[in-house]
Amino acid sequence: MMIIEFFINFCVFITAISIICILFKDKMLISKSSIAIREKLFIGMTGGLLETLLLLFPIDVMPGLLVNFHALPIILSSLYGGVLSAIVTTIIINVLSYLIFKLPMVFLLTDLFLLTGFIFISNTKTTIKNKWVYCTLYSLVVSSIGNIILIKDSRLLAQFFIIYYIYTILLTYFIYKFIESLTKTFEVYKKYRTEASIDFLTGLNNVRWFNKSLNRISIAMEKKEKIKCLSLILLDIDYFKKINDKYGHSSGDIVLKNLANILNDTCRAFNIVSRNGGEEFSVLLLNYPAADAVQVAERIRKNIEAYPFHISDGITVHITISSGVSTYPSTTDNIDNLLDDTDTALYEAKNTGRNKVVLYKEENLLEEYRYNVI
Ligand code: GH3
Ligand code: MG
Ligand code: MG
Repeated sequence: MMIIEFFINFCVFITAISIICILFKDKMLISKSSIAIREKLFIGMTGGLLETLLLLFPIDVMPGLLVNFHALPIILSSLYGGVLSAIVTTIIINVLSYLIFKLPMVFLLTDLFLLTGFIFISNTKTTIKNKWVYCTLYSLVVSSIGNIILIKDSRLLAQFFIIYYIYTILLTYFIYKFIESLTKTFEVYKKYRTEASIDFLTGLNNVRWFNKSLNRISIAMEKKEKIKCLSLILLDIDYFKKINDKYGHSSGDIVLKNLANILNDTCRAFNIVSRNGGEEFSVLLLNYPAADAVQVAERIRKNIEAYPFHISDGITVHITISSGVSTYPSTTDNIDNLLDDTDTALYEAKNTGRNKVVLYKEENLLEEYRYNVI
């Protein structure tokens, strides 16, 4: 019977931890200080409710002697939520267990000792594994003192300790291992998610993310969500092959990285800057009419033209870029054609002298929106 109760305790813990981890999977990998106050309160409350639930399934060690693992939810709250979560868990455990089960107040005293110790341990500079070990050992010491006061018969006490220690160590070990494996899974998930959207060389968005963003914006515009127009700039380095041929591929990479920095510095944070492939880049500009987008493209072109790219000791190169610009709905009337139309404009810039910005079908623009493209 004891085994079944132990198993139920284990299942309740695993369920609660799984729910918390799924809700906070991004936060699990960063520091506790980045968890918002209301999330800390939520973690604390879950810990408290979890413990109250566990009081329904105490382990019947022997007649009149029940074991429950009330230290564990406080350990979890303090290690993963922080001070506030641990305090909330302790308060909920004690208030509910007093109200529902009329448990003696000695638990409150024990819990206060546990809480103080766990908070101290969770703030020490050591690995999470060590913190678990210290918290478990500390909880065993504190609970032992509490039980020495409660259990007068020394034979019963010895029997109780053996069972209590074995169960606590087993349960804590499995829970620690479960959280460790979840954390590793989330780490891998986060790494792949980042790699799936970021260009490895420049740190800009990659072409997959660019396509996804364009799709998302199109859907939002169809629903008429506050986006009046969308401009796209495509830019491509002029004669980049020559840089590679003359200075080597790694020097070419340095140029690409620096160009990415210039793009980021020239564009606003909410513009979506991507490397669409090779030496071709793009900027998606939400709510930028054609004239404003051309201005941005011109600013980028001039900044790049003026920038001295240091590729190795004493060697500096200058490059130029050609850009195509198009805007939905003023120059491109169907958003699905935005990319192709912008590409057509880029192609025209390449074919009419390079180092310039070409706006797609500029003649389509109404007179008041027209902008003098140099
Ligand atoms: P154009 O003015 O017509 O664009 O001429 P271009 O030489 O820039 O264009 P082309 O398409 O002929 O060559 C593009 C070059 O970009 C060829 C390729 O070696 C280089 N390239 C593509 N990706 C990378 C990269 O990741 N790193 C480096 N260093 N070079 C790259
Ligand atoms: Mg090129
Ligand atoms: Mg190219």
